[in-house]
Amino acid sequence: MNLVTKSAIDFTVPAVLSDGEIVNDFCLSERIKNKYAVLFFYPLDFTFVCPTELISFSNKIEDFSKRGVEVIGVSVDSKFSHCKWRKTPVNDGGIGEVSYTLVSDIKKSISRDYGVLYDDSIALRATFVIDDKFVVRHQSINDLPLGRNIDEFIRIVDAIKHNEEHGEVCPAGWKKGYAAAIYAARANLEPIVVMGMQPGGQLTITTDVENYPGFVSIQGPELMEQMRLHAEQVGAKIIDDEIKSVEQLEDSNKYRFRSSGNINDYYSDAIIIASGAQAKWLGLKSEKEFQGYGVSACATCDGAFFRNKVVAVVGGGNTAVEEAIFLTRFAKEVILIHRRDKLRAEKVMQDRLFKNDKIKVMWNHTVEQILGEENPKKVTGIIVKSTEAQELEVDGVFIAIGHAPNTGIFKGFVEMDQQGYIITKPGTTLTSKAGVFAAGDVQDKVYRQAVVAAGTGCMAALDAEKFLEVSKVFK
Ligand SMILES: Cc1cc2nc3c(=O)[nH]c(=O)nc-3n(C[C@H](O)[C@H](O)[C@H](O)COP(=O)(O)OP(=O)(O)OC[C@H]3O[C@@H](n4cnc5c(N)ncnc54)[C@H](O)[C@@H]3O)c2cc1C
Repeated sequence: MNLVTKSAIDFTVPAVLSDGEIVNDFCLSERIKNKYAVLFFYPLDFTFVCPTELISFSNKIEDFSKRGVEVIGVSVDSKFSHCKWRKTPVNDGGIGEVSYTLVSDIKKSISRDYGVLYDDSIALRATFVIDDKFVVRHQSINDLPLGRNIDEFIRIVDAIKHNEEHGEVCPAGWKKGYAAAIYAARANLEPIVVMGMQPGGQLTITTDVENYPGFVSIQGPELMEQMRLHAEQVGAKIIDDEIKSVEQLEDSNKYRFRSSGNINDYYSDAIIIASGAQAKWLGLKSEKEFQGYGVSACATCDGAFFRNKVVAVVGGGNTAVEEAIFLTRFAKEVILIHRRDKLRAEKVMQDRLFKNDKIKVMWNHTVEQILGEENPKKVTGIIVKSTEAQELEVDGVFIAIGHAPNTGIFKGFVEMDQQGYIITKPGTTLTSKAGVFAAGDVQDKVYRQAVVAAGTGCMAALDAEKFLEVSKVFK
C-alpha cells in the first residue's frame, strides 16, 4: 500500500499531542514527512484492559526516536480517555506519563482507510510502518497486545532500513520453523525464519501445554518464546514478514529460489515450508474469548484437562467422531452436536460412536454462544439452537469442524493432496521440488502435535543440509 495514492496522507483530525495539547488540524502527512513512522491502532478499551502495555511502550519511545522514527498512536476513542488516563499517576491506578503523539480518530477515517475498523466502533490492534516516502512497509493487524511487542517493531524498522541500505541477500532462506532453524543454524546454514501473520504459530492461542517433552506444564506462548530465543541464540535470523509468493529462479548460478514477502524478497538455495495449518472455528465472539479456557480445537492436546467433566464436541465428520470417542477416556459425558441429521464420518467410526454409552448426539443443532465466567476464567455452558434455543451446562467445548493447511501460496509450486496438504516422500521431508522441504502441520493431517512438528523440522533441516552438500550449492 502506498500512502501517496490514498487519502490517508491527507488525514486531518483532532489530536491530543504528546504534551497534552489538543489540536484540531493534526495533519498526518505533515507529521511524518521525510521520516519513518510507526502508526499504532488501539481498541477503545485499551487503557482499561492493560495500562501496563502503554507504560512499557512509553519506555521505548526513545529507542524509536534514536532511529528517527515518529511514533503515533491512533485511537477511535472520541472521549480522549487515553488523555485522561495519561494524566493519572501510576500510583493511583493510571498509566502515568507517555510521550508520543495520540491521534483521536473521531471520524474513524484513519481506522477505516487502514482497514482496521471493527464492527464500526473499535479499531483492531494494528501497526503500520511507513517509510520516508509515505509507503507502508509493514503492516500487522491482529488482536495481540501491542505494548509487549514493541521490541518486535523496533526490529522491523531496523530490518527495513538495513535491507534498504544493503539489499536482502542471504545464503539460505527458510520459512517458519524454530526446530528446523535451530538445526540449520547449528549446521552454519545461516537460516532466515520468516514469521508470518501468527508469530509463534498455533501454540500461541492456547494456554497449558502438558505434552511437550521437557516441560511438565508450560503456557503455549511461553514455549514458543523459548523456542524463538533458542533459535536466535544459535544464529537464526528471525524476520517479521509474510511470504506472498515463491518462485524458482531460472539462473540458479546465484540463488535457486526467491520468496517474496510484504517487506522484502528473500533469496535462498533451499526452502523449508513450515507454514502450519489452522483449525476451523465457528466464528463466534464468545468462542474466541474462551479459547484456551475451555474452548479447544485439539482433544489430544486438551482432553486430559476434562477428567470427570461434561464436554461438547461440535462437528459431524471423522475428526469430530474421533475426538468425541477419544474424550470419553476422560470426560464423564460427551455431547456431540451436529447441525445435520446424519454424520459424514466413516461407517465404522459411527458404529464405535453409537456403541459408546458416554456419548450423546444432538442432531440438527448449532452452537449459538459459549457461556462462561471470569475469575477463574472458564466455560460453564453453551447455547444451542434447533427450532428453539436451549442452554446446556458443559465444562468444555471442542470445535472439530476441520483444519486447513496454510498452503495457498504454494499451489503449483509443490505437489499437494486434495485438501491442500503438501505431499512429502514417506519417511522424509522432501517435496516434489528439489530443494524444497516441508515440516510440521503443513504436511501432517494425522498427528498435528507440536513435538511432531519440531521432529519433522529437525528432519527438514537435515534433509536440506544434505541436499545443499550434494548439489554443491552450499559453500
Ligand atoms: C488450540 C490449540 C491447542 C493446541 N495444543 C497443543 C498441545 O497442547 N500440545 C501439542 O503438542 N500440540 C498442540 N496443538 C497443535 C500444535 O499447535 C501444532 O501441531 C503445531 O503448532 C504445528 O506447528 P507448525 O510449526 O507446523 O505450524 P503452526 O504452529 O501453525 O505455525 C505456522 C507458522 O507459519 C507462519 N506462516 C504461515 N503462512 C506464512 C507465510 N505466508 N509467510 C510466512 N510465515 C507464514 C505462521 O505465521 C506461523 O507462525 C494445539 C493446537 C491448537 C490450535
